[in-house]
Amino acid sequence: MRPFDLPEGKLYFAGEWREGRGAEITSTFPADRSLNRVLRGASAEDVDLAVEAAQRAQRDPSWRNLRPHERASYLYRIAEGIAREADRISYVQSRDTGKTLAETRALAMSAAGTFRYMAALLETSEEALTPQRGDALTLSVHEPLGVVAGITPWNSPIASDAQKVAPALAAGNAVLLKPASWSPLVCLELARIAEAAGLPPGLFSVLPGAGGVVGERLVTHPAIRKVSFTGGTEVGRALAQKAAAKLMPVSLELGGKSPTIVFADADLDVALAGVLFGIFSSTGQSCIAGSRLFVQRAVYEEFVSRLVAATKALRVGHSFEPRTQVAPLIHDDHRDSVEAMIRDAVARGAEVLAGGQRPEGMEEGVYLRPTILAEADNNARICREEVFGPVLVVLPFDSEEEVVAMGNDNDYGLACGIYTRDFPKAWRVGRAIEAGTVWVNTYKQFSISTPFGGVKDSGLGREKGREGIRAWMAQKSFYVDLPGRPHPWAA
Ligand code: NAP
Repeated sequence: MRPFDLPEGKLYFAGEWREGRGAEITSTFPADRSLNRVLRGASAEDVDLAVEAAQRAQRDPSWRNLRPHERASYLYRIAEGIAREADRISYVQSRDTGKTLAETRALAMSAAGTFRYMAALLETSEEALTPQRGDALTLSVHEPLGVVAGITPWNSPIASDAQKVAPALAAGNAVLLKPASWSPLVCLELARIAEAAGLPPGLFSVLPGAGGVVGERLVTHPAIRKVSFTGGTEVGRALAQKAAAKLMPVSLELGGKSPTIVFADADLDVALAGVLFGIFSSTGQSCIAGSRLFVQRAVYEEFVSRLVAATKALRVGHSFEPRTQVAPLIHDDHRDSVEAMIRDAVARGAEVLAGGQRPEGMEEGVYLRPTILAEADNNARICREEVFGPVLVVLPFDSEEEVVAMGNDNDYGLACGIYTRDFPKAWRVGRAIEAGTVWVNTYKQFSISTPFGGVKDSGLGREKGREGIRAWMAQKSFYVDLPGRPHPWAA
């Protein structure tokens, strides 16, 4: 396989592979810090150029007048391209992010599935005649917004990119995508595949570059009609404020501090596997990570001691080693911030039950042992703030009421895991918890047909599901006169 077959040093925007005119971006492999690529990122002027080309391409009758099934054919071809090149995309994404090949392959296949699903949805979606209440025939249709943008983080690039790009294109828009500066390469691979699928030039641009420059220009550019952002809550909130000034809709997929609840009646083997996967897969760098664990007091000692032993046995290793469970973190700066959170928790009285340190003899990469902290207060920083790393905090609870209150006592509301054999209880707790997604006796399962998003500080709007394409469209209603007589008022 030839890695980095991408045109050297180039970005894909305004219909061509071009050099960016912004600040330099360096992509390194977190497993050994070797260099992947150095690129010049996009500048604000590059964004403007991409927007102009996108407007032309989006308004061109060759795109604008396509019937849904014709537009869907582009998405099917992109899906096929991703699936065909899944090994290579997986390799590039692992180099970009340090994730294991198994995980990045799954993300590539998920991206292919997203394009396929959105194509099928496009072909089967219908417009509605609304019930007629007067003399006019009434109907409502959905139309593209125009030029739209996606801004994505580094933790699951190709999958989170597809979640924005596929429905936005399906809706008939032109799309500008800004990936995170730590993971620019895999998104450029997506551009290469879209180009090979024959997508009209200018309709899709990939603009890596500094968030404060490229992201900022995407949000404030007067011609951009919607931005879908996935990333941290702080950046998302600032972005939404700027969008409000130009009355532009935004969708925000933000951070989380998701509770996982293990009741005493749970199948503890199932719960143990789910808790481990929920927090330590993706090295904890997951918005939905189950990072706050509540265990009912009757099984607390037993469950936590099994969890600690299993955590210590997790295989921390190189991204390309097939047995690795916990791969490196994305970047030294990010590991520093994760370690600072652990130190802060310990300084405030938390006890380290597992991990808390870098593994010995693995200094060449950005590794950190999976960590479990106990004896923290639910109000402590470690229980309130997102760590975005392999760090779990465990707390005991007594009653269902108490755990719902503790689970909800947090600014975030992204996800929740519930382990119990009592289904009515799982249902009650699941309904009472403030979260966008609830998993019962499992965790981190995903389906493109099931909507995803958060409440409270975890976000605004939903991606995926049957309404996925409509989120990128504007509704237009028609009243078509039937009697064909002059209006009586004018008589
Ligand atoms: P981040 O710092 O918020 O960055 C996300 C994206 O926003 C990046 O592309 C970044 O560019 C860009 N950006 C930065 N400043 C900007 C600005 N002023 N205007 C516009 N764009 C700007 O987040 P991250 O560290 O990459 O990712 C981790 C966060 O994402 C976590 O909080 C995690 O929970 C969240 N996340 C949420 C979901 C979800 O679906 N809810 C999924 C995955 C991740 P640069 O890289 O150039 O700074």
